[in-house]
Amino acid sequence: MQDVRKKRINCIIVKDLSRFGRNHIETGNYIQKIFPFMGVRFIAITDGIDTFHSELGTDEMAVNLKNLINEMYAKDIAEKVRASRRSSQEQGSYTGGIPPYGYRAEWVKGKKCLFICPETSGIVRDIYEMYLSEKNIRQIVRILYERGIHRPSIYRQTGYVYQQEGEVLEQWAVGTVKFILTNPVYTGCLMQGTTCGKKHKLRKRHDVDIEDYCIQHGTHEPLINEDTFFRVAAMFEKSAVKYCNTGGFSKNVPLQENIYDGVLFCGDCGKQMARVANAKQFSSGDMVRYYGYYCPASRRLDGLQCSSKSISMSVLDKLVKTALHQEFSLSDIRPGKLVKEYERQAEEQKQQVMQKIVLCGKQQENGKKKGSELYLKYRMGRMSLEEYQKIKKEQERLLYEIAERREELQHSLDSREREIKEKGKFLRSLIKCSEKTELTKDVIHTLIRRIDVYAGHRVKITFAFCMNELLYLEEWNYKNEKNKED
Ligand SMILES: [Zn+2]
Repeated sequence: MQDVRKKRINCIIVKDLSRFGRNHIETGNYIQKIFPFMGVRFIAITDGIDTFHSELGTDEMAVNLKNLINEMYAKDIAEKVRASRRSSQEQGSYTGGIPPYGYRAEWVKGKKCLFICPETSGIVRDIYEMYLSEKNIRQIVRILYERGIHRPSIYRQTGYVYQQEGEVLEQWAVGTVKFILTNPVYTGCLMQGTTCGKKHKLRKRHDVDIEDYCIQHGTHEPLINEDTFFRVAAMFEKSAVKYCNTGGFSKNVPLQENIYDGVLFCGDCGKQMARVANAKQFSSGDMVRYYGYYCPASRRLDGLQCSSKSISMSVLDKLVKTALHQEFSLSDIRPGKLVKEYERQAEEQKQQVMQKIVLCGKQQENGKKKGSELYLKYRMGRMSLEEYQKIKKEQERLLYEIAERREELQHSLDSREREIKEKGKFLRSLIKCSEKTELTKDVIHTLIRRIDVYAGHRVKITFAFCMNELLYLEEWNYKNEKNKED
């Protein structure tokens, strides 16, 4: 439609109307009002519609009818798919795609049924046992890794439960273990239809009320008994309460903005450093947050593990401030003057371009005036047609060139203005940091390209500016001042 509005398209051809739209009101609106208004020809081949060759009235009805049928057809299909899935669910058929880890799926008399998988079911039982014996999920992930057990997705791809010789072992995701520990499928029941695409027009899937869940008990052999499942669920609830409590406590201490977001990286693996923000309470009752950064890959167990490294935010702040300050004091730059000079230069350049644009405008006006003068001369018989056409052509060429030039100038003015805005922001950041004010996200992001943290407390800061460029401006500024004095 964008291309139609830009007049890039003047004809639309579809096989039949249902290819164009399912909603009869909207489709009709396009075909009968919008396309004719925009001068676009619309052809639907099998329906025999051509907006350029139609007797309005009878065709209009046919279009409406066909559209209505298309829409009903789409609704009907969606309804049928949903109903058939629901009835499969009610018959205890597994309607999900991939069977849950620990089970395999097989078709039996038109029903998809779950059967215990001899290779993986033991691992599911172990996970439940480990959790019941007070191991937390992180510890379970570690044990699974130490036993050389592939994560479920790798198992599904390769068919191997355990790591084979020469294979890379990836650790399980915390979420996967949690999902296994909370999935009632392992008690031998199927809980399906928990989400649904309610109406065919709403793209988003909606969560369904719990009463509408399709729950079937005893559809397959359980891997664990219900007692185990509910004990685990109770433990989960308890840990959730604990989590909420700490959340409530930290909520009283506001979280500061992460000013190093997007610029702080692990120098060894290149991952963005993750932030910790622990709230601590003193005996006086004061609460303070301690911020620090660590490489998220350093906590991994598998081949993607990175060397352990961390840095507290106060140390990082100090380092960055010192580095920036050193850079400026060594080069003897006076940012205040720099900004003024830069802004003056920028304004001057802008004015020059704008003057040129005004000049172009005048030339265009002139050209048009000459054109009408020429025409008058020809009409009064003071010029032959041949001569008139020749001069007119030349004038038109000139006008075209001027218009192009004007466009170019406008373009350069726009990009210049953007640049000025960017540089201005940069220079103001410069002032802020030379005045030793607090570091802000803005200052850091304009002055620093990236910070890499290496093991052994080494930090590399890459600035986002080139000192020579600044020195050049400063020098220019100095010369200018001297000239004035002279
Ligand atoms: Zn790393």
